[in-house]
Amino acid sequence: MSNSSLNNPLKKYFNQDYPSQSQTEPGLESNLIPKPDAGEKSYQGSDQLRGRKALVTGGDSGIGRAVAIAYAREGADVAINYLPSEQSDAEEVKKYIEDTGRKAVLIPGDLKSETFNQKMVEKAVEELGGLDILALVAGKQQAEADITQLATQQLEETFITNVFSIFWTVKAALQYLEPGAAIITTSSIQAYKPSPFLLDYAATKGAIHTLTQGLSQQLASKGVRVNTVAPGPIWTPLQVTGAQPQEIIPSFGQNTPLKRAGQPVELSSVYVFLASDKASYVTGQTYGVTGGGLTN
Ligand code: NAD
Ligand code: MG
Repeated sequence: MSNSSLNNPLKKYFNQDYPSQSQTEPGLESNLIPKPDAGEKSYQGSDQLRGRKALVTGGDSGIGRAVAIAYAREGADVAINYLPSEQSDAEEVKKYIEDTGRKAVLIPGDLKSETFNQKMVEKAVEELGGLDILALVAGKQQAEADITQLATQQLEETFITNVFSIFWTVKAALQYLEPGAAIITTSSIQAYKPSPFLLDYAATKGAIHTLTQGLSQQLASKGVRVNTVAPGPIWTPLQVTGAQPQEIIPSFGQNTPLKRAGQPVELSSVYVFLASDKASYVTGQTYGVTGGGLTN
């Protein structure tokens, strides 16, 4: 007799070919076909973050959107950061947060500016009345198969967006983080299994892995935990904005052991756990959500 409460992970979400498509950076979730599942209809909270105040970068779309929605449904007030061109995606997330009865704060701006990182933190603290959770999800990824063609501008922008902004945000936020607060960064399976066409991006994700470990050691005595999530291939706007060679898009994710791309909602519970008191003895760790790709 089969157990109808079980869900086969191979088939739980979309596991067909994706239609070929492309958008210009940073892309919009609303233009992605099919639309990712960020938990809008499915994520159910259980008060795990009641009363917390969270800042989620990249909170308009993809993984950050799933995190923002989940945090609100777990009882947190949530500020999200994104680029100004993503305002329409951000407005949708704002509505999902407010539908839960929690406060939503929209902070558009470019993380490549140190000054903006400081202003973002100040605005989040002012509007939320404090800060307990930093979920640093924003990231830049552009494919380039040939290192001799890798422009210095791309190299700089990728490192500044993915790595420098974490330093700047944490520097600005630390004075507000009290014992029990949590920082969650977003690494990648690329830190461990780099694709030949993602040298710069993969190197930033390796840097985030090491930065997370080191920061966890520095902040442990303050009672602030620091962990990183390493996603595998997840269906998000980033992927169709030049992050992959175009010919990869239809079969995106099918080379994983679970033979499909992940959906952003499949990351939500990990970001919630790492932010919550249930993770009180967890710091300096990497959590892979990869469809089976190994993160070591
Ligand atoms: P996404 O496009 O939905 O999110 C990335 C977000 O980064 C954008 O929404 C944008 O708001 C933000 N961003 C980029 N440059 C910025 C800048 N200069 N200033 C402010 N915001 C900026 O894509 P996603 O896949 O959900 O990406 C989220 C994170 O997950 C990234 O760090 C990415 O590297 C990581 N990741 C994604 C995958 C995947 O397969 N999708 C795999 C591993 C890691
Ligand atoms: Mg976006």
